[in-house]
Amino acid sequence: MKQKILEHLPKTDCQMCGMTCADFAAFLLSGDLTPQECPVLQEDAYATQREALAEILASLAARAKSGHLIDPDKCSGCGICLIVCEYNAANDPESRQGKGPYSTAKVVLRIVNGRVMLADETLCTRLLQAADKCTKCQDHCPTQAIVLV
Ligand code: SF4
Ligand code: SF4
Ligand code: SF4
Repeated sequence: MKQKILEHLPKTDCQMCGMTCADFAAFLLSGDLTPQECPVLQEDAYATQREALAEILASLAARAKSGHLIDPDKCSGCGICLIVCEYNAANDPESRQGKGPYSTAKVVLRIVNGRVMLADETLCTRLLQAADKCTKCQDHCPTQAIVLV
């Protein structure tokens, strides 16, 4: 996704924003900067890129606060993410087996109809951690169905 954003930046690395275009793209992805903070992008010549970028960022605005971007088409329903998620495992015995579709326990992730879904993003520890945020579900997913941004 960062690469996709970078494609629509001027890619001049002029550093007027105080960094390279690639670093700027990462901050756009995280939501910490906006396209308006790239002076070069405001030039008329970049009108098309501005529009494309606005579309991409609007789609990301719907992303979960915890940073999860889940692609259900890539999810095999293997349940590995449920097992490695410490919150899930601690609160739901069925999650420790990669299961739990009918469990009523409060969990971050749940497998429903063979696909993972965010059951309650507010329980994800990423929302509480300032640094070294947990990335276990992303790191252990064999199909890259979970991307954390
Ligand atoms: S100001 Fe814009 S063009 Fe210049 S480095 Fe930053 S993002 Fe790239
Ligand atoms: S980021 Fe960590 S705490 Fe959040 S759902 Fe993934 S494994 Fe669980
Ligand atoms: S998101 Fe990944 S780890 Fe989780 S169930 Fe789907 S394929 Fe398995």
